[in-house]
Amino acid sequence: MSDLYTIERPFNKRYRFVTVEDVQKFINNGYYVVLKCEIEISKPKYPYRESEVREYHWRGSPPKKLEFPIKSKEELVYPTGRFTTWLRTKELAEALSDNCIIKCHDVLVSKPAPNHRKIWRKLTKELFEKYGNICMRCGDVISPLQVDHIEPWSQNPSLRYDINNLQILCIHCHKWKTRQKKSLDFRGVLVNGNESDCNKLAKGLRDE
Ligand SMILES: [Zn+2]
Repeated sequence: MSDLYTIERPFNKRYRFVTVEDVQKFINNGYYVVLKCEIEISKPKYPYRESEVREYHWRGSPPKKLEFPIKSKEELVYPTGRFTTWLRTKELAEALSDNCIIKCHDVLVSKPAPNHRKIWRKLTKELFEKYGNICMRCGDVISPLQVDHIEPWSQNPSLRYDINNLQILCIHCHKWKTRQKKSLDFRGVLVNGNESDCNKLAKGLRDE
């Protein structure tokens, strides 16, 4: 049995001890998420959702007992204060922007929405056809290549599927750019680079 539990759709992974950043990442990547967390609220707007202990089987391992949210208790909302509750994707996005999540416990995640995959596959294909299989920062053609959002789309969702906001980076440059925490555009940086020069340059740039 691969589905842990179904609220609106089946979940296929459960992670424990996640951070707020992990949860944000799942949401950014189009996953449907249910999180057990502690929230501190000043306005009574988050739904009251009870939980229960259920037994589940995961990939043939012995049955385990774990806590899951109960369906349809949404007519109630929490008063103000601090509570432990389960929140779904949309509520979570709101709670994240309200900064009211104090602590994350367990997270259940489904596969990303099918249209996200379809759109993303089409976009990345177009991008590689346009720019080639080369890192736009360092010219690396050997390391795994990844697609980077120049401006993080979480602050501006309309930029998520905008090809003009995408660039190709190797895995090393992508990690480096993420650490800079700002939008850096490397399109058009490498002009007339050939493969061997590019890889020499790649090493030099990464050693910076
Ligand atoms: Zn690179």
